[in-house]
Amino acid sequence: MPEGDTIHRSARTLERALAGRRLQRFEVRGPAAARASRPKTGTAITQVEARGKHLLIHFDDGIVLHTHMGMHGAWHLYRHGERWRRPGTQARVIIETDNGTVAVCFAAPTVETARATHGLRNVRDLGPDLCRDEPDIDEALRRAGRLDPRTEIAVVLLDQRVAAGIGNVYKSEACFACGVDPFTPLAAIEIETLRSLFVTAARMLRANLTTTRRATVDGGLAVYGRSGRRCRRCSNVVMSRRQGEQHRMTYWCPSCQSRRVRTAADATTTATTTRDATAPSQPAVAPASTTVDAASAGRPTRSPRRA
Ligand SMILES: [Zn+2]
Repeated sequence: MPEGDTIHRSARTLERALAGRRLQRFEVRGPAAARASRPKTGTAITQVEARGKHLLIHFDDGIVLHTHMGMHGAWHLYRHGERWRRPGTQARVIIETDNGTVAVCFAAPTVETARATHGLRNVRDLGPDLCRDEPDIDEALRRAGRLDPRTEIAVVLLDQRVAAGIGNVYKSEACFACGVDPFTPLAAIEIETLRSLFVTAARMLRANLTTTRRATVDGGLAVYGRSGRRCRRCSNVVMSRRQGEQHRMTYWCPSCQSRRVRTAADATTTATTTRDATAPSQPAVAPASTTVDAASAGRPTRSPRRA
């Protein structure tokens, strides 16, 4: 299940392979082919970067290639002539460089090019990227403050316009770490708790930037994917159910995650204090490994809300 950490890892691997190289071939296939602007042969690749769960490849003529992996997309790296591990019919972008490196993007639901990053609406509207050093948590809180106060907190955490990078895994894990019931409406979440949720999710994402086996606690994950099993903390049974318009699966421990309801007076104040929240302990980190074949997060997006 791909989240910001996965896409940042992919971007780093692609950056090492592609940055500074010149294009021998740039091909877009599928629905995006007709619209795509194409950098010319000989154009240099200047940078590969992730913004939340979005991957951007920059060319020195100003063109930017934007891909979002959805549920099944992935970038692979090959040598020229090497056999691909996925069918050619799934290829959406093929980039070949002057040193014989071939980068292929398979099955990504979002492929587009623009003359500059600000031409990419879903990228432009993203909240602060929690995978980066020192993300602007105050900005995430301000953006959360603009949402419908009835929005359930786990849905808020997934909203990439509020903060970028959190997917289904860290949504559930951050709520557990902070003891928050994922179905609590935003209006009932204390500001310190909201800050703590973003700080915690950011720490978890960054702790997993160099790993492929995600861990947020010793032994792996606390609740995500553990429905019906014993809570690692209290031994009660971990629950799961689908949540929000997108019916994304949420995992939680009903005893460790009790609702935190504010008073009506508290609920009228806006969500922009600058007090430091005490963040939970540093998550455990699993062994490192490198691969760019990291499928991505979330489902294909139809609105910028959950890009
Ligand atoms: Zn528990």
